[in-house]
Amino acid sequence: MSARILDGKAIALEIRKEIADEVQALKSSRGVQPCLAAILVGEDPASQVYVRNKELACEKAGIQSQLFRLPTATTTEELLSLLQRLNEDPKIHGILVQLPLPKQIDERLVLDAVIPSKDVDAFAPENVGLLSQGRPRYLPCTPHGVFQILGRCQISVAGKHVVVVGRSDIVGKPLVSMFLQRTGPFGADNANATVTCCHSQSSDLAGITRQADILVVAVGRANFITADMIKPGAVVIDVGINRVEDKIVGDVEYQGAALVASAITPVPGGVGPLTIAMLLRNTLTSAQSS
Ligand code: NDP
Repeated sequence: MSARILDGKAIALEIRKEIADEVQALKSSRGVQPCLAAILVGEDPASQVYVRNKELACEKAGIQSQLFRLPTATTTEELLSLLQRLNEDPKIHGILVQLPLPKQIDERLVLDAVIPSKDVDAFAPENVGLLSQGRPRYLPCTPHGVFQILGRCQISVAGKHVVVVGRSDIVGKPLVSMFLQRTGPFGADNANATVTCCHSQSSDLAGITRQADILVVAVGRANFITADMIKPGAVVIDVGINRVEDKIVGDVEYQGAALVASAITPVPGGVGPLTIAMLLRNTLTSAQSS
């Protein structure tokens, strides 16, 4: 078997085009331009690249972006005071705090200080709670990207056994929450799964992953899932992004997995490009409801 390749890059471009059209319509009808504020503390090179990519994506979609660069020695109090200003500014629709933050900053306190209506990453407890109750204000960006790939590729989720490997607050847990809902971004067929979540303490991981109709992997270990851990014909979604020497690889050993799976996301070019697209979507949603 040779798997169908789920082209996240093409899907992200399609979504970004839809967003650009909606941004234009919002400007024409109400004179509102969505604006995303990004806060970057310190000099972490990877964070600088991520923030730059987000700025460029905003620009292409007609979304304004404001970057707040703060020195590495910034205190929690200084960051909280900037957040308060941004929370109160009606021209700002989304606030993004680029992680990781320097050690001296209380990350929990800072993330909790973003007002939920501008929390376009959907990390705030209120937004996590709304999602788990099936009435999301914003869908978390990377998990939403996974659902966009499944929905736009006409891969049905309802009634399937979905195995999610990883239980982080950013990826694994919100994915589980979304797969369990009665309706997804593309309706009932894009939700209603039977869900198993695995983590580092799970016994017989391979025995569980081999039961998956849809296997979603977010572990952060290069080539961790091998072909023998995948049920023939399963759909494999690889969220992992790992640098191995000068290459980016996923959490799934792609060459072997592609021979067993019926469909698979590549890395790079799979889930990755969707994350920024869904951040733009949330910023637009916030502006539309302002
Ligand atoms: P975390 O490190 O926060 O979580 C990793 C999860 O994997 C944990 O729940 C951990 O279990 C689990 N895990 C670790 N080792 C094992 C093991 N041996 N067996 C089973 N489970 C294991 O990572 P993230 O969720 O933030 O990210 C995961 C990957 O996704 C990374 O490669 C990251 O770069 C990528 N990523 C990609 C994004 C994108 O845009 N495509 C966005 C965000 C992340 P435990 O909880 O028990 O420790």
